[in-house]
Amino acid sequence: MGEESNISVLICRVLLPAGRDLLEAQGFELREGGLDVTAERLQELAPGCAAIVADPTVPIGPDLLDAAGEGLRVVANFAVGYDNVDLAACRERGVVVTNTPGVLTNATAEIALSLTVAAARRAREAEALLREGRWTGWDPGAMLGLELSGATFGVVGLGRIGRRYAELVRPLAGELLYAARSAKPDAERELDANHVGLDELLGRSDVVSLHAPGGEATRHLIGAGELARMQSHAVLVNTARGTLVDSGALATALEKGEIGAAGLDVYENEPGVPQELMDAPRCVLYPHIGSATHTSRDGMATLAARNAIAVLTGNGPLNPIS
Ligand code: NAP
Repeated sequence: MGEESNISVLICRVLLPAGRDLLEAQGFELREGGLDVTAERLQELAPGCAAIVADPTVPIGPDLLDAAGEGLRVVANFAVGYDNVDLAACRERGVVVTNTPGVLTNATAEIALSLTVAAARRAREAEALLREGRWTGWDPGAMLGLELSGATFGVVGLGRIGRRYAELVRPLAGELLYAARSAKPDAERELDANHVGLDELLGRSDVVSLHAPGGEATRHLIGAGELARMQSHAVLVNTARGTLVDSGALATALEKGEIGAAGLDVYENEPGVPQELMDAPRCVLYPHIGSATHTSRDGMATLAARNAIAVLTGNGPLNPIS
């Protein structure tokens, strides 16, 4: 038991033991909303809390911040993305916001690689054929997909996860292109990657993988016009945020054969998945499992808790959002 026993922490939904145990060891009172928590329930739990542990499914805005009250010092997001947090509202109230960078980089890059291969090789259709008893035997002309060896890969957003994805596909790739707001000379040197504009990347890539953050600045970065620039055999992978892609335009592009295939882990209004994407051909859909490895989720829980503790014990946050 630590010395901070008067401090309350709101865990909006759940926190894995790797993080929960650290908070409990400080003697903090933990108020947990549970997986099905509602906005109303959060309002009831928030008053008097000094820290809020949130995740990407929980919008953190003025209402909840004000419900917590003036003693609130930190919002520790259990994610690297923070598009669920109203940063301006936190800033106005002097509340520090933190995230969990790095610990989920490998896991998310690996799920992007999985979606790349699954979409390129028509894994969804192939497995359905077999499971539904429609497979009549080896057929030289059936289930032909895109060969990735020698393919041109385009990475949109060469940050931590984009860079790791680029490292993973480098042994396969012919050309490696990336689009970013600023050039990354070390990546160009180490990965033989070329910095190009988004339009050029879309036109030249056989595989386009998105790794830029969510939020207004990247909303519908990929819409009907961008999809039309892609090659008709090209694969689009999105493990970043659903808001980066116009779902309706993507479904239409798949339907019309304007692009070859798509692999998605994230959606515009989760946990809703647009029916048009469910119905679209050549589309592999995962339920937002990018960071879902034991290593990654324990790392995220630990880091979220350590950030909350650092602020509440008067030390600087480990991973502040600037
Ligand atoms: P990061 O290191 O901050 O990388 C993001 C990169 O995006 C930055 O390097 C930034 O580079 C670039 N960028 C920003 N705006 C851009 C734009 N308009 N066009 C092109 N590039 C742009 O973040 P990360 O750790 O790699 O995470 C990336 C995102 O992945 C997170 O924000 C999160 O939403 C998502 N994510 C999803 C899952 C999942 O479960 N599916 C798990 C973890 C993370 P420049 O400033 O140089 O442009």
